[in-house]
Amino acid sequence: MKITDLRCAMLGPFPVVRILTDAGIDGLGPVEHTKPYIAPQVLQLRDALLGQDPTDVERVMLRIRQRGAFKPWGAPISAIEIALWDIAGKAAGVPIYKLLGGKVRDRVRVYNGAIRTPMTRFEPEDYAENVRLMKNAPQGFTIVKQGIGFHSDMKYEFPDFHYGESRRGAFHGWIDRGPLTERGLKHIVACVEAMKQELGDGIGLALDCGPGMTVPDAIRLGRALEPYNIMWLEDMISGDYVPFVNADVYREVTRATSTPIHTGEQIYLRQNFKQLIETHAVRVVGPDPCDVGGLAELKWVAEYADLHGILMAPHGIANGLLGLAALVQVCATLPDNYIAFEMPWGRPDWWFDIVDGFPDPIVKDGFIDVWDRPGLGVTLNAERARPYLSEADRGFFD
Ligand SMILES: [Mg+2]
Repeated sequence: MKITDLRCAMLGPFPVVRILTDAGIDGLGPVEHTKPYIAPQVLQLRDALLGQDPTDVERVMLRIRQRGAFKPWGAPISAIEIALWDIAGKAAGVPIYKLLGGKVRDRVRVYNGAIRTPMTRFEPEDYAENVRLMKNAPQGFTIVKQGIGFHSDMKYEFPDFHYGESRRGAFHGWIDRGPLTERGLKHIVACVEAMKQELGDGIGLALDCGPGMTVPDAIRLGRALEPYNIMWLEDMISGDYVPFVNADVYREVTRATSTPIHTGEQIYLRQNFKQLIETHAVRVVGPDPCDVGGLAELKWVAEYADLHGILMAPHGIANGLLGLAALVQVCATLPDNYIAFEMPWGRPDWWFDIVDGFPDPIVKDGFIDVWDRPGLGVTLNAERARPYLSEADRGFFD
């Protein structure tokens, strides 16, 4: 089998990568909806793929992996890797999880940050109300995640939140940073306390906190939250779109508190997790399959983390329904350091009409049942999806 074409189109807000073959089998690769500009970076890899056997996934990846980088530039490589597995699975007549070593669980736990209402006020009662909605969602989530401090508009809306410069910018992440005021720190703790009162001890609470915090503030927050048994504190120092790891700085924080420290969503490739894992700089890693370099790359990071007593909670909120399918495939195969993956969702709602193959309902009691169809096990219905393509992308399904 040979690759005959590589395409990238916008379906609503989501870029979608499609690889075609001379056997009539195609593969789909998801990209975060936050990267509508990614098509040129995908298509520049086309010449390296044409004529290659897509079922030799690693051999193909060796040709293109050096052209990726930290988020957002790991996305083209990652989407292509996932599309190759989709083809390889379809060609073999097995789900991707079989090719990654087989499933070790029949259902995978997800955590929720996607099904929610946006926050416009940032007082403790607003946080309590926000997690109440997530707690009462019909999906029955057992873990929810909330953005606080620098990972929210709290940094703008709460007066004198920190001593640093306040910069509302076009780009998210690592724009604002600096020392918290005592009032700012106490406000975060009060908001967490209100959320925990609402959630009780039956639903885990994870917090996305930065990036942008200083080491002493990160340690103070970790220690102040110890009584609340938080699932993890995410990206306090670096993360999101920060193009480096900062493992030694994270290690300072991790060593100083029993609250688990988490990072990794922006990191590209296993090599860039090496120091983080080998020095035990965090308790939880959270690579995103659509940024780290794909499904096999994420599996490798999970196994290596497990060898070092480090937990795994993959990122994924913006990956859409194709990303959801990819996360189910790989997370079914991960070792028992797996906590849950961050569930992406379909937006706009018509995305649920153009993807076939999901269980109904998709989430039950906070889990997704692993399905057994070949490849990703979900497909785009060309007839129903075509009306949503832009004029420039009209030929995407031809
Ligand atoms: Mg995050």
